Amino acid sequence: RMLKRQMACRGDIHRLNAPLLAIYESLIPPEEERTKQKQLLALLEKLVCKEWPKAQLFLYGSCANSFGVSKSDIDVCLAFNEDINDKSEILLKLADILQSDNLQNVQALTHARVPIVKLMDPATGISCDICINNVLAVVNTKLLRDYAKIDVRLRQLAFIVKHWAKSRGVNETYRGTLSSYAYVLMCIHFLQQRRPAILPCLQGMEKTYNVMVDNIECAYFDKVEQLSNFGSPNKETVAQLVWGFFNYWAYGHDYANSVISVRTGSIISKQEKDWTRRVGNDRHLICIEDPFEISHDLGRVVDKFSIRVLREEFERAADVIQAYYPQNPLEKKKPKA
Ligand code: ATP
Ligand code: MG
Repeated sequence: RMLKRQMACRGDIHRLNAPLLAIYESLIPPEEERTKQKQLLALLEKLVCKEWPKAQLFLYGSCANSFGVSKSDIDVCLAFNEDINDKSEILLKLADILQSDNLQNVQALTHARVPIVKLMDPATGISCDICINNVLAVVNTKLLRDYAKIDVRLRQLAFIVKHWAKSRGVNETYRGTLSSYAYVLMCIHFLQQRRPAILPCLQGMEKTYNVMVDNIECAYFDKVEQLSNFGSPNKETVAQLVWGFFNYWAYGHDYANSVISVRTGSIISKQEKDWTRRVGNDRHLICIEDPFEISHDLGRVVDKFSIRVLREEFERAADVIQAYYPQNPLEKKKPKA
């Protein structure tokens, strides 16, 4: 106890900056990985084009949203200009084509929630999932990438949060914890909420990018190179932000009433979204609004058991970092004397 108290007294949050930045640096994929990804994409394009000349391939997910760490698998979307009723047929055909070109471990998962073909490319060693017509994912990938261009602290914070989530086993949607996509949205929202703000709300600005996908209008300000000084009035360091992030999710967030919304750049109420009742599998125990598919709660995977795991993990992380803080800054509620 003594030691812990001494640490808290002598603690200095800035001591955490260098080690946190070192983690971030160590996770950034080297340029040669990007080259290999492009090489594989070019091969896939060549193969797909022979069978479906009008189809297009897009990278999405962490290999394209700039939140991918070294050695990640890549996610590819095969987009047709029309609706596809029977994706199984196409996936099986695609698997055939890939197999005859010596790609390895080719597998069509036609009954998965998102049906895909999996494969491994022996030339580059990269594994890849290909889905069909998941254009919303391609668009939300662009949104995340655009946010990352505005202030480097988003990428730093998100790499550290993703690294923490993977190490602590809370990045497993099939076990009731959150997706990487959800964690990145939590980071964006958190930086939109800092004062001064570190990130703007791109969907609340002039719409320079506008596409209709599955009857959803996806529109926002994407000339982000004009916003490269946006966050500079805020001088917080990555250590302060990591501390603030965990403190918010441990002690600051109102789980009973609040929904975090990157779309509006603010908190909205569960009442307003009618996310107060359990409907089917949606329990709304932690609410993260998808920026485009706004009826979609990315916290839907969280159940009454995993919410406890998740909140205990947020508290543990907050308390570990707290030991480095000299005094309690404003955000942590002081117990009444
Ligand atoms: P990782 O490094 O863990 O692979 P990732 O960014 O690729 O991270 P995934 O969870 O594999 O994250 O998701 C891939 C992409 O699919 C996301 O970037 C997002 O575009 C889309 N996506 C994932 N989950 C959802 C969801 N629940 N709703 C909408 N889109 C989603
Ligand atoms: Mg992925």
